[in-house]
Amino acid sequence: MPNFIYRFRIFYTNFVAVHASKTLMMHAGQFCGMSTALLSEMTWPDVKEAIEQKRVVILPVGSTEQHGPQLPLDTDIVNSFEIAKAAARKTSNLVAPPLYYGITPHWMGFPGTMSIEYDTWIRFVTQIGNSLAKHGFEKLVILNGHGGNSAAIQLAAQNIAESSGVKCTVAAFSYWDVSHAQVNAVRRSAPGGMGHSCELETSLQLHLRDNLVKMDRAVKNVRTRQSEFEQLDMMEDGGHVLFYSVGGGGGAYDPGEWGTIGDPTVATRESGATFFDVIVDQVARVLEDLSRRR
Ligand SMILES: [Zn+2]
Repeated sequence: MPNFIYRFRIFYTNFVAVHASKTLMMHAGQFCGMSTALLSEMTWPDVKEAIEQKRVVILPVGSTEQHGPQLPLDTDIVNSFEIAKAAARKTSNLVAPPLYYGITPHWMGFPGTMSIEYDTWIRFVTQIGNSLAKHGFEKLVILNGHGGNSAAIQLAAQNIAESSGVKCTVAAFSYWDVSHAQVNAVRRSAPGGMGHSCELETSLQLHLRDNLVKMDRAVKNVRTRQSEFEQLDMMEDGGHVLFYSVGGGGGAYDPGEWGTIGDPTVATRESGATFFDVIVDQVARVLEDLSRRR
């Protein structure tokens, strides 16, 4: 074989081998991209494909704030982020990077709490939503894990739908909004046991990362209903009114001495797993419902 043909063969063989491996890597990369539920782990071509496939994007929002003497400050965002990831995997949808900061002036009396002003927070979330909508994502979910954001997520959703300038449907809700019946069916505490740093949040954290939960410090702080309409528990259905108050007085955000509202002492890892599963199922149903809409 003449030398140049031999060299060409080697070159050609190497070229084919390199090209084949590049093609394989590209396919592997694409596969990797689409196999993750996290938008932040994808490449832009993966995102383009996800837009064409009309995936729903979930933005988990929460707060960094006191959660009683037993739970970590990031309880709200970790709960909503983990629920979002599990529901997204179940329905082949996506999760945007979570927002760790929320509106929580009522807990500023406790060290570590960080609160964002209402207008700043709504504008920030609106701009995330607008960015996603302008790229072509037509279905967005703001999944909330913190009570203090409840009103603001509705305003942000309305703002995104109205200001993005493109066709876009936005659903905003807290994970407990869609799971009252399912959670109430398996809870151990009486009404008043679920509010903040309570049976629900503590059980979810025990399920997700029990190494960070200091159960020996958990204290019960169950309020008594002072009037017929007063909302006592986050899992109560409609017909009740949340009475805000600052500086105690037994209102919705009266944290007692330790920053707990409800009964975390009955929380267990087993109920946390059950709560997590029923909540994920309900959130997944919302995602499927949203996917079906035109
Ligand atoms: Zn919380």
